[in-house]
Amino acid sequence: MENIDWKNLGFGYKDTDYNIRCYYRNGKWGELEVCSEKHISVHMAATGLHYGQEAFEGLKAFKGKDGKIRIFRLDENAKRLQSSCKGILMPELSVELFTEAVLKAVKLNEKFVPPYESGASLYIRPLLFGTGAQIGVHPADEYLFVVMVMPVGPYFKGGFKANSYAITRKYDRAAPLGTGTYKIGGNYAASLRANKEAHDLGYTSEFYLDAKEKKYIDECGAANFFGIKGNSFITPKSSSVLPSITNKSLQQLAIELGMTVEARNVPVEELTTFEEAGACGTAAVISPIKSIVDVDNDITYFISEEPGKICTRLYEKLRAIQYGDEPDLYGWVTVVE
Ligand SMILES: *Cc1c(COP(=O)(O)O)cnc(C)c1O
Repeated sequence: MENIDWKNLGFGYKDTDYNIRCYYRNGKWGELEVCSEKHISVHMAATGLHYGQEAFEGLKAFKGKDGKIRIFRLDENAKRLQSSCKGILMPELSVELFTEAVLKAVKLNEKFVPPYESGASLYIRPLLFGTGAQIGVHPADEYLFVVMVMPVGPYFKGGFKANSYAITRKYDRAAPLGTGTYKIGGNYAASLRANKEAHDLGYTSEFYLDAKEKKYIDECGAANFFGIKGNSFITPKSSSVLPSITNKSLQQLAIELGMTVEARNVPVEELTTFEEAGACGTAAVISPIKSIVDVDNDITYFISEEPGKICTRLYEKLRAIQYGDEPDLYGWVTVVE
């Protein structure tokens, strides 16, 4: 589209031409519907509104030098949505139907996929929620699945840059036996105050410790944490961390670089020993960490002013696979035909 300034896109909602919808009624998912209406008419007693029966996904499509559009790890997002649905008693969508809906949404909005040179991408946001009217606390009997897409800018405008995070002890994002492993709106609602307070203090984001003991690292706002020490890629193993597909991919690339991957409890004091650290997720791939500040105890865990060598290498490698500049050795990419 001639009137989109690809170079100056941020990360925000933008209208595109079509969205894909699918309704669950009478115990089964229906046909995919192509829709150009942005609004949804929902019953005021829908469980998605009252009781948080809502899950979402986030993935991206990239245009390569060769003009082809590639979607990154589509099947993993489909499986994670299934896991979120199981977690809050919503009907699962098959990997096939999820894939078909995403491909359809991308193809129909092809003109919104940013050109290769811009470093931008098409963000894909699938959403699934309870539409059935209910006032008693039970799962709904009707659901809606929607896939919307929008062009988003590169996360790092002025180049790959390191950020600071503030440890929060006042709020928990998720409990050890709660819903932290599911990608659901409720976890985000629980994080809004912590996020705002961290922002107000001048930090990029809040940093969560485990809810029970406040001893181990959980997540970096809405991103996973990893640290680099010697030849090891270290990431928290916790029952309240969302299983990031970016993290999983970085672990594979770290192994390819001859590194060891350690998924285990990471005590907060261990932060002093990392040579590099990063927050990872679909939005930024890696957001390198400059410092993590324990605001309550006045301790600064400084990592490094500049993005480290290994973080940079992993970031470039993953981006190269996403844009088709490097071979897709692991079958991570779906080319839109
Ligand atoms: C989506 C999300 C992530 C990142 O997952 P990716 O699959 O890498 O995008 C990390 N933490 C939370 C809480 C999330 O919701």
